[in-house]
Amino acid sequence: MSSTLRVTVWNEGRHEKTHEEVRRVYPHGIHTVLAEAFRGAGFEARTATLDEPEHGLTEKVLAETDVLTWWGHMAHQDVSDEIVNRVAKRVLEGMGLIVLHSGHMSKPFLKLMGTTGALKWREAGEKERLWVVDPSHPIVAGLPEYFELPHEEMYGEFFDVPAPDQLVLVSWFQGGEVFRSGCCWNRGLGKIFYFRPGHETFPTYYQKEVQQVLINAVRWAAPGDLPKITFWHKPEPLEKLG
Ligand code: ZN
Repeated sequence: MSSTLRVTVWNEGRHEKTHEEVRRVYPHGIHTVLAEAFRGAGFEARTATLDEPEHGLTEKVLAETDVLTWWGHMAHQDVSDEIVNRVAKRVLEGMGLIVLHSGHMSKPFLKLMGTTGALKWREAGEKERLWVVDPSHPIVAGLPEYFELPHEEMYGEFFDVPAPDQLVLVSWFQGGEVFRSGCCWNRGLGKIFYFRPGHETFPTYYQKEVQQVLINAVRWAAPGDLPKITFWHKPEPLEKLG
């Protein structure tokens, strides 16, 4: 791993091309806003989108990525299985993965979770209040005990994912539902963080608390200096046997 964290911000990028109300909020795409926030934190950030060759995720790009962030919604099925397998393999090798909002139904997330990723949802632009439920976790460093998004899509439980290894944030919505909004899992040598907010018609990714969570999550999910792990059949014993 190089000393500067290398983030690849992946975005489906279709809503921004086809929906005027999304283009108004993210004229250069969700990925551009996230990449700028990461650069502001001192990370090296590149972007990749669905309609690029190999969805912008070549072997070389992934080999040079410490943490991949994933936003997708309307075109999950257009992501090729070859690229999904490539992403999942890199996560098992230690690359961090941050899955955003409607990425709960993305192929890489479902492959790594093994469940349906289903949940309740409602688009009413209601208030969301996110509560920190693991105050000493590095992903919530520098945050208040709760913060609010004035207008968001609602996601409600039950969220069909494996019980998170660490649950960091829980959301309450104006309509009464609750949701596990910040979930951590380990898969192989890799770390995965799911972060709920980020509906494409709201300026969520410009909000400072949201950017702070994502910057913290990149630092948390980065692989660091991993020990070299080997899987051998019949390894030489370290001690004399018998
Ligand atoms: Zn949404």
